[in-house]
Formats: sequence, structure tokens, C-alpha cells
Amino acid sequence: MSTLMRATHSFTKLLSPSSRSLSLRPSASLLTRHQMSTEAENVITRLKNSGLLRSQGLIAGKWVDAHDRKTIKVCNPATGEVIVDVPCMGQKETNDAISSAYEAFYSWSKLTATERSKFLRKWYDLLIAHKEDLGQLITLEQGKPLKESLGEVSYGAGFIEFSAEEAKRIYGDIIPATLPDRRLFVLKQPVGVVGAITPWNFPLAMITRKVGPALACGCTVVIKPSELTPLTALAAAELSLQAGIPPGVVNVVMGNAADIGDALLASTQVRKITFTGSTAVGKKLMAGASGTVKRVSLELGGNAPCIVFDDADLDVAVKGAIAAKFRNSGQTCVCANRVLVQEGIYEKFANAFSKAVQNLQVGDGFTEGVAQGPLINEAAVQKVESFVKDAISKGAKVLLGGKRHSLGMTFYEPTVIGDVKSEMLLSREEVFGPVAPLLPFKTEEEAIHLANDTNAGLAAYVFTNSIQRSWRVSEALEYGLVGINEGIISTEVAPFGGVKQSGLGREGSKYGMDEYLEIKYVCLGNMNSN
Ligand code: ADP
Repeated sequence: MSTLMRATHSFTKLLSPSSRSLSLRPSASLLTRHQMSTEAENVITRLKNSGLLRSQGLIAGKWVDAHDRKTIKVCNPATGEVIVDVPCMGQKETNDAISSAYEAFYSWSKLTATERSKFLRKWYDLLIAHKEDLGQLITLEQGKPLKESLGEVSYGAGFIEFSAEEAKRIYGDIIPATLPDRRLFVLKQPVGVVGAITPWNFPLAMITRKVGPALACGCTVVIKPSELTPLTALAAAELSLQAGIPPGVVNVVMGNAADIGDALLASTQVRKITFTGSTAVGKKLMAGASGTVKRVSLELGGNAPCIVFDDADLDVAVKGAIAAKFRNSGQTCVCANRVLVQEGIYEKFANAFSKAVQNLQVGDGFTEGVAQGPLINEAAVQKVESFVKDAISKGAKVLLGGKRHSLGMTFYEPTVIGDVKSEMLLSREEVFGPVAPLLPFKTEEEAIHLANDTNAGLAAYVFTNSIQRSWRVSEALEYGLVGINEGIISTEVAPFGGVKQSGLGREGSKYGMDEYLEIKYVCLGNMNSN
């Protein structure tokens, strides 16, 4: 099984309504807060012992505090407890990190592709060797179920492995000349220092899928992870040092996001910004990059339609829609945001889907059998609440859930809402939570119109047993990724990215390498003289 298949397999199994563990394990609601905290404390102790619980930034190969010693707290979203304090850095530390990356660029970019490949391979091996530690760290700071976190480690490490392999295949070109005494070449060269800004929903994978190809191409990086989940990034950076990747090639700063962003944007030494996060911040970064004409890659928000046609296999559609919607408690940019269901199958689907969603166990990500962790913070829950309220006030029906979970904190009940209309907030914007809105439709044309009626264009899902329809609808969807009869499709070997306001550029696959390469044309003239 491939890395992603393994990750996908374990996630789908985890969410499968028929999974025995879901019904046989004790419910998290039976556990006391004290028991949950004890498990988290054990994990913190284990991580400290393994040397992977880092609490400083990384600049020029040295672990450092903020220059004014200011810190911010990193909390476990399942319990609210503080895990550790990390430095609250800003412009000064970011400029130091940029200088360090700029200096390291000279020697790193001069290594042969084979040498860079070996470093990346070693890093991959260490990430996999520490899969348990990293998985626990992800659950600790982000809250997703441990099984999903372990899947993320396999998936995230896969980008480093793929980049190690692809490093050796960055070919240039020879172009047939238009004049007999000339020879024309195309060289591919690294863009230079890269600023990589990442979100909290995949604390490891969003970093590796930027840093892997950047390093493979010969770039050096300044990483700014989300302040909510910096610990996995720091652990991964520690492993990059253990892999022998030279000081300065990988730097990590965190703290004041706007100050760090401004420093990256203002620097003439930073030649590219790669960002995953909200559309609003992505637009700011794109505008800010114009001052120094930097390259930008943006992976922004989605509004994924999941279209279930009358001719779909009901079981496949239910399983796929659950995986697409409830992964990471609905907190991914490729999560199904609107489930469009054709009239003929609507009742049957709504019943089977709600029944399966009801089986999703909510709780602390460390509890076995849990399929839904907490939301990342209070603001996330309030957003979900306001979207649900808006839908109900406009005539939608709650089929399941629809409120905060009795566990408290930021736990929210897995929710299904029927009779949702396209003008409701649930259809217009990303809910980023465990709420599945069902929208009935009549014809294929109507489904395509509804699906495309948004400024977003990242992922879309289609459930049908007709080959012709699957092809036709895939072509008509204005989206960067389409899953047919499958709810989890992302893999390091395929291009990931959006159209419209969902972003620019692609990550993963051979196409993702181009984002870190400049094309240089070289003309050799006077080639007929001796
Ligand atoms: P989300 O809503 O998913 O947290 P954000 O776009 O706010 O998405 O955050 C994604 C990443 O962007 C995080 O690392 C965050 O700290 C960072 N970020 C937020 N605002 C800025 C900014 N003005 N400049 C640079 N980075 C920012």
C-alpha cells in the first residue's frame, strides 16, 4: 500500500460507520477531564524525553528565544491546558532568519541534486522513525484523533520522500536553434529564499509539502507555522538538523503573524512566499508581495461541493461523503462544504448519512475509537453556531446535532442539516466544522450550476455509477481537484491546488516542483567559429 493509501485507509476505517471500534469503545463523554489530562501529560513527558518537544525558534541552526523574551502559550484544544510557552517573535527575528537562509542558500543550492536528495531521504526516514511522537504531538496541539494524526505523519513525510526522489529529475531543455551558429538551453534554477506560512489544521503536512520541494530544488526556507500549532513544526525542524541538513537551510519563526509576514514581504532577499490559509490573508500577502515582485503560491479556502446523483451507489456515497466532510472535524479546505443530493435519492441518502454520522464518536483525540476531536478554538465554534443559526432562521431543518457537545470546551456535535438553500451562509462560505448541509437538486445541469456558483474552486466530489456522467461533470466543474466516488483524494504524487479565489500554483507531484524553480534561457552564439 502506498503511503497515502495507508493514510487514507486508516482514516476511512476510522470513520467507517461499520467500524467495530466505534461501538465497542467507551464513549469519551464517560471519561473525566482528569483522565484526559493525564493522557496528555504522559504524552508531554514522553515527548520531552525524546527531545522533540522544542519550545524555541530555529535560526541559523540555533534554538533561540524572542529577543525581548516575550512568549505565547500553546494549548491543548481538548482540555484548554497549556502545553508549553514558545517565543513571540517579530520583525527582528524574522530578519535574522532571512539572513541565515540567504547565507545558507549559496552553499545549499550548489550541492548536487543527489546530495540534496540524500539529506531529504534521511529526513524522511527520521520523520517515519518518529511517527508515534509526531502523531501524538499533532493530537496534543491540534486535537485531531490520534489515528488521523498518524495518517498525517505518513502523508506529510511522503512529501519529503517524493521531493528526495524528484530532486534528481529537475531537467532543463535544449531548444533547436533558429540560426545555425547558435545553441539554445533552458536551465532550471532555485528561486532563492522562500517564506513558508502555514495554518494549524495540518501542522506537519502543510509544512513538508512546501519545504520538501523547496529544498529539493536548492531553495532555503523561513517557516512561519501557525501560532496555534508550532510544536510539530519545531519537532520536524529538529529532525531536519538530525538528518544533517545544514544550519540556515531550515529556519522557524513564530509569534506576531503580521510582523513576521511584513518582514518576509519587505525583504528583497526573500524571492517567494508560499502560503496556506484563509483567502483574506492570502490576498493581503499577494498584494504585499507586489512591492518586491516576489513569486507567490497560495492555497486558500474552498467551498467544496459533494454531488450525489440518483445513480450513485448509496453505501459508497455515504462513506465517501462522511470521509470528505468529517475528516479533522470538518476543518480542512478540501472538506465537503455542501452536499448536493439529487431528488430521487435525497430521502434515502439523508437517512443513511445521518445514521452513519450519529455513530461518529466525539472526544479527546487520544481516546481510542474517537472519530471527532474538538474544534481548534472558541472562535471556530462561534462561527459554526452562527452559520447553523442562519440556516435554521431561513428554513433549513436540523436532522442531527446542531449544537455544542456536552463535553464542553470546543467540542461540537456532528451535525446534518437538511433542505439547505444556496443563499444560506452554510452554502456561501466555508463552515470549517462538523456540519454537513444537504441541498436537494433536480438535474445534472442544476447541480453543476450550484457547484460552480461560488468564488472558490479547490476540491469537488461526485458520486455516480455512470462513467459518462463522471467524465462530463468533472470537465464542467470549476475546481482544481475532483474526486469521483472517493472522499479523500490528496496524495503527494498528484497536484493539489485551486482555481478562482482558492489559490495560485500547485503543491505535490512534479508540477509542485516548478513553483520553486526559475527558468533561465542561455544562448550560445558564434558556435561556428574555431
Ligand atoms: P486560519 O483562519 O486558518 O487560521 P489564517 O490565514 O488566519 O487562517 O492563518 C494561516 C497562517 O497565516 C497562520 O500561520 C497565521 O499566523 C498566518 N497569518 C495570519 N495573518 C497574517 C499576516 N497578516 N501576515 C502573515 N501571516 C499571517
